[in-house]
Amino acid sequence: MSKNDGISQENLATIHLSAELIKQSHHTVVLTGAGISTPSGIPDFRSPGIGLWTRFFPMEVASLSAFRYDPELFYRWLHPLAVHMISAEPNPAHIALAKLQAAGYISTIITQNIDGLLTRAGAKNVLEVHGTFNTLTCINCFKQVTSEGIIQPYINDCIIPHCQVCGGILKPDVILYEEQLPIKTWVKAEAASQSCELMLVAGTSLEVMPSAKLPIMAVENGAHLIIVNNAETYIDVRADVIIRADVADIFPQISDEVLNA
Ligand SMILES: [Zn+2]
Repeated sequence: MSKNDGISQENLATIHLSAELIKQSHHTVVLTGAGISTPSGIPDFRSPGIGLWTRFFPMEVASLSAFRYDPELFYRWLHPLAVHMISAEPNPAHIALAKLQAAGYISTIITQNIDGLLTRAGAKNVLEVHGTFNTLTCINCFKQVTSEGIIQPYINDCIIPHCQVCGGILKPDVILYEEQLPIKTWVKAEAASQSCELMLVAGTSLEVMPSAKLPIMAVENGAHLIIVNNAETYIDVRADVIIRADVADIFPQISDEVLNA
């Protein structure tokens, strides 16, 4: 380890190379996943052993048919995750990506997360391919509403939201099992991935389809690839740079080198 905040010499070299690739690229796309939000205290709720997934087998509650069958069970199951999300704050990785985007070095940010933390860090036009808690849709008449005035009563008293028009149950616009990704968002994510010069994979092990396909679309169209993640991914063999570390340690360093060099 060097004296530089505990970052190893090997990581200093890869941080430098990443910064060079970002500066040279005219069109950079970032793909993020659960690993960018774990430093904010949000558990990766797909991981085995995490309480949310072991209390109920997820397909029994987190699928569209389960939601329709017993929305109250879904909302009770979701409650601890929702409490985590509403109290979480953006971490240095979210903030560094937002800064790089504001300075023109990142064109598009795609996220598999539903926590809204990139937007709260100042990122713009984030493509949330697994949906968002910012809006809800009535499962009966399909009226869509914003979460304003709905989330807080749910967080405080677990009050289940109902449609003002027809009285039906409102479902958060997050993607459950058996649901398609939001099509307009997904089309933009694919187009950005296919046309970028550089893709930056940050905090995702690329185990969830179809998002896991986006980096392969990028490299097959000639893009460079940087992967910052704690664990291996299937596409490591195609990467120009691999940094096996916490995104919250690495991204502020990359951002400083790009913006201040
Ligand atoms: Zn309705």
